[in-house]
Amino acid sequence: SEQTDSLKEKLSVALKERQELVQASDSLKEMISFREKLPAFKMKSEFLKAVQENQVLVVSGETGCGKTTQLPQFILEEEISCLRGADCNIICTQPRRVSAISVATRISSERGESIGETIGYQIRLESKRSADTRLLFCTTGVLLQQLVQDPELKGVSHLLVDEIHERGMNEDFLIIILRDLLPRRPDLRLILMSATINADLFSKYFANAPTIHIPGFTYPVAEYFLEDVLEKTRYSIKSDSDNYEGNSKRRRKQQDSKKDPLTEMFEDIDVDTNYKNYSLGVRKSLEAWSGLQIDLGLVEAAIEYICQNEGSGAILVFLTGWDEISKLLDKLKANNLVGDPQKFLILPLHGSMPTVNQCEIFDRPPPNKRKIVLATNIAESSITIDDVVYVIDCGKAKETSYDALNKLACLLPSWISKASAHQRRGRAGRVQPGVCYRLYPKLIHDAMPQYQLAEILRTPLQELCLHIKSLQLGTVGSFLEKALQPPDPLAVKNAIELLKTIGALDEHEELTPLGRHLCNIPLDPNIGKMLLMGSIFQCLNPALTIAAALAYRNPFVLPINRKEEADAAKQSFAGDSCSDHIALLKAFEGWKEAKRSGNEKQFCWDNFLSPVTLRLIDDMRMQFLNLLSDIGFVDKSRGPNAYNQYSHDLEMVCAILCAGLYPNVVQCKRRGKRTAFYTKEVGKVDIHPASVNAGVHLFPLPYIVYSEKVKTTSIYIRDSTNISDYALLLFGGNLVPNKSGEGIDMLGGYLHFSASKSVIELIRKLRGELDKLLNR
Ligand code: ADP
Ligand code: MG
Repeated sequence: SEQTDSLKEKLSVALKERQELVQASDSLKEMISFREKLPAFKMKSEFLKAVQENQVLVVSGETGCGKTTQLPQFILEEEISCLRGADCNIICTQPRRVSAISVATRISSERGESIGETIGYQIRLESKRSADTRLLFCTTGVLLQQLVQDPELKGVSHLLVDEIHERGMNEDFLIIILRDLLPRRPDLRLILMSATINADLFSKYFANAPTIHIPGFTYPVAEYFLEDVLEKTRYSIKSDSDNYEGNSKRRRKQQDSKKDPLTEMFEDIDVDTNYKNYSLGVRKSLEAWSGLQIDLGLVEAAIEYICQNEGSGAILVFLTGWDEISKLLDKLKANNLVGDPQKFLILPLHGSMPTVNQCEIFDRPPPNKRKIVLATNIAESSITIDDVVYVIDCGKAKETSYDALNKLACLLPSWISKASAHQRRGRAGRVQPGVCYRLYPKLIHDAMPQYQLAEILRTPLQELCLHIKSLQLGTVGSFLEKALQPPDPLAVKNAIELLKTIGALDEHEELTPLGRHLCNIPLDPNIGKMLLMGSIFQCLNPALTIAAALAYRNPFVLPINRKEEADAAKQSFAGDSCSDHIALLKAFEGWKEAKRSGNEKQFCWDNFLSPVTLRLIDDMRMQFLNLLSDIGFVDKSRGPNAYNQYSHDLEMVCAILCAGLYPNVVQCKRRGKRTAFYTKEVGKVDIHPASVNAGVHLFPLPYIVYSEKVKTTSIYIRDSTNISDYALLLFGGNLVPNKSGEGIDMLGGYLHFSASKSVIELIRKLRGELDKLLNR
């Protein structure tokens, strides 16, 4: 140990010398002067002193003031200067993958290094770090995974948890663990970083930990609401010829109920103002606006207006998701004015983008070129683009919500909070006075909730529950009571029930062998189970593909005006399987083939597939394969054919699907010439119009498993697969003998199967053998 001590000393000296040398170099002068202008710089010594004197510190500051890029760096520089460089190990968590990469890359260049040297990042299954890494940016999920192996965070000297104001589930979970850990790790320093929202809440949670506020500076930002925007742009929303199913259905419903459409629209936002005060134009657009999608025509009109009437400066548009971003991108590229690539630079920015073209987003374009960034709420606080002068805010963001009673999880656009609206507006005033165009009326703004509801209060909790179990944090219920805002006990109960139903927890709420494997797979437990079953039952390739698509997104695009052709293309992949999942699988296999023969583009175009999504699914398959190999379910040295004996046997693939998707089961009941669909939780449901099963009147097999229920105009099941009772009996959840003794019940008696005692016995034996396979 004496030897390591002297090595460490030498290393610390070397680090310090290098830091001094680089900082004195000419090439870094510009970077240093940029850093010194940031508001965080003025607080450097106060911050470092507070870190030294307190175990926990809360730092708040206007977005863009330098929290994420500067504060961890200050700590690093200080440690290196004090010759503790070899000993320090700073970790900073980020809620999103893109920001972890973006920030780590930025800091490396601020220090004149390559990424992966002193500064590194690690996100799920991807990392750039080395033995020299002293400051690591990781997603919060990665840190939680690390806690399984290293519950005391041994070796971590400073932990910074970023963006805590967003109240993400992982961050809320992490801080419960940290609060318990701190007394056992008196040398660990914890720094919580937040936008200027509600910092007191966190300070209180940590026994009134001191807070530091970094005052920021932004120029004033003028704001316009929908009324003004409509007048300026002379845009009128065609509310009746809308391209979009949700709106028209809703309108039909409104006619039925003879309610004032606007009254109905505002029902979910709780306003008690008289909408009749609004002009017809505004009322019409409000009505269109009340659908789930944004009127991209209005967004386009606002962009055009700015380009024609306002001075120079980048435009930042907030949309809800990738679909809208790509649709608007296409629209703008075809636009007479903005489509000119000589004059306009249009860039998408989205949380799950494969590689953000970092430089383009941050760089200033030449003076005769205007930058237009189409972003999701990632640009609200995680990523700051300095030269934005105009913000166009649609007022919505995709938000998960969880209806614990109906066990229904949705990811739908909903109105943002006042706090978010304020953040979005502020993005326009970084370099000069700006303008914010809000595409919703002031009335909506006034009715927005102050803050967004914490994620832990509005999402299914099964992955979290597995985490709590694998970290041995006691019973789920009592652990979650310690949260900043404890979730609904019913949601906790549902999650535990689900984990029992899929066999991840036993009746005492302890991890089963399956549960222990699932803890090592950082994915939704259902998807994890599908992967495990796929590898055990020689259907690895289909399981990887379908799991990747479920974990990421569906590669089928939904063109608005060519829906029938798109449906036909999807149908031809599905054949007579009555399965969206098989369609997806075949489409992926076809794409692989087309790619090999250099025909990728045409294939995707002909079949309404997104090449970007397919490529990502392909990447994720590799990542999942590595995961399975890490936990010992796949031995990669055995080659690609070793786990695929049944991969072309569609009945087997459907059985694996059943294993993964259970208990998402629908009973198909014949009603005359048609079939009606029922689920245990909500009763009757419909098949989503985009499904290959949407037009099927009679199904060959009695059950359907599905990946997701969504609630829009009614409750729909998205991607679905028709399956047999055998698949359910062998691969579904717990079996209980019928009370009468004749047959088997599943799903707490919702499903009945009549079978003789000897058949029941046989099925139980087969199930027992399956359990043994998992118990390794
Ligand atoms: P905060 O975390 O307080 O919101 P940041 O530390 O992210 O602020 O950003 C501070 C400044 O650094 C901002 O002005 C931002 O524009 C700039 N910046 C951050 N990342 C990059 C990058 N990758 N390239 C160029 N500038 C960046
Ligand atoms: Mg930040």
